[in-house]
Amino acid sequence: MDYLSFVEGKKTEFLDDLKKILTYPSIMGEKVDGAPFGVEVRKCLDETLKIASRMGFKTFVVNDAVGVVEYGDSEDYVASLAHLDVVPVGDGWDSDPFVGRIDGDKIFARGAIDDKGPAIASLYSLYAIKELGVKIDKKIRLLFGTNEEEGSNDMPLYLAKEKPPVYAFSPDAEFPVIHSEKGMVFVRVSWNLDQKNDGVIVEEIVGGTKANVVPDKATAVLSNVDKEVVSNLIKEFEEQYPYKWNVQYDSKIRVQCQGISTHAAHPETGLNAVMGLIVFLSKLSLNSGVKNTFDWFATYIDSETDAKKFGIFCEDKYGKLTFNVGIVDFKNSTLSLDINYRTPVTLDYDAINEKFVKIIRQTGAKIEFVLKDRPLFYPEDHFLVKTLLEIYRKHVNSTTPPLSIGGGTYSKHIPNTVSFGPLFEGKQDMCHEANEYASISDLITCSAIYAEAMVKLSVNK
Ligand SMILES: [Zn+2]
Repeated sequence: MDYLSFVEGKKTEFLDDLKKILTYPSIMGEKVDGAPFGVEVRKCLDETLKIASRMGFKTFVVNDAVGVVEYGDSEDYVASLAHLDVVPVGDGWDSDPFVGRIDGDKIFARGAIDDKGPAIASLYSLYAIKELGVKIDKKIRLLFGTNEEEGSNDMPLYLAKEKPPVYAFSPDAEFPVIHSEKGMVFVRVSWNLDQKNDGVIVEEIVGGTKANVVPDKATAVLSNVDKEVVSNLIKEFEEQYPYKWNVQYDSKIRVQCQGISTHAAHPETGLNAVMGLIVFLSKLSLNSGVKNTFDWFATYIDSETDAKKFGIFCEDKYGKLTFNVGIVDFKNSTLSLDINYRTPVTLDYDAINEKFVKIIRQTGAKIEFVLKDRPLFYPEDHFLVKTLLEIYRKHVNSTTPPLSIGGGTYSKHIPNTVSFGPLFEGKQDMCHEANEYASISDLITCSAIYAEAMVKLSVNK
């Protein structure tokens, strides 16, 4: 029997197990004893390990952060790394996000594709390997993480006690296989600005929710400003740019800029409302306390998603630098911007960051790096990349080369790892969306692909 027939034969059990772990609202929560990333995440992990024990596997938890399912008994091991934590639900769901609702070939729930579906798929891969009695050289571990969505702080806790895998893949991106991921920087830049009475006063600006999302809304409250000036400027902007504007004229004027939200890994596909609003404000006769900073923004940041005017633009054959101002906050004379930029995979990461710091320092801003991740790069002919690609191509008729992405998977946090699936080419990416779903037949195919990958990677060369 092959892997695919085995897992297809267990489809009912597979779906029951998946539904079980989908019921846990495993969004990051408060740290408590035994659960550094919240109780719900921990409960979901325990439930997953219970399923693995039922299948006859040895299981344990490392530092309360990462669950391990183990098969085989060698010193070294190969691994798959899925995560059980999920992002918050958000609006727009047609059914309960924590009930695995099945409709045809789709199962809907928060986490269905990111990453509980793939987690169960990898569990059934190992189950197939064991039940079919397939010979492995190195032992296989399934690692179940609990903090991928909030910084992957689980993996350092794992590596503090366990040695890294010889080879591993993470079923948490897309096929065919991800061989490189951009360098990632989250940085907060802030200025202390003393407003004066000699021009338009910016009372407040708010916009954006996360640095890694292109914001679709930003709002400013203005005083000491002429209504007609604002409405004329809006007309001008409407002719020049695709933004939409909402204005409320009271004693103070409230201007809202509307753009298009998208992921900051590809900011050029959205329309950044924060950047649009700040450029807009810079065209008013602002008071001398803030004018220089807004002028600087309009000249050097503008609404560019590749930081050309800013001066850190660069690109290699795998892609160019991307730049996103995700959040603006201006209250009590502090203007702060949360920026996420991503650096090309083969270029000098430190040099780009040094340049960024130098440019920002010249404006008198304070800089606080919130998160920094070096780029990840495996050549296309690396054993891990080549092996996974070959297995994928046995199942899917495809000539697509290994992919380079904007970055941010587990692969950066644990050595010898690349991301592999679960999303097949041409399929809709529902990660973090309302009505997130996974295709059931695709998850089962993933199981077969992953089983083969685990076995191939485990063979002693
Ligand atoms: Zn994920």
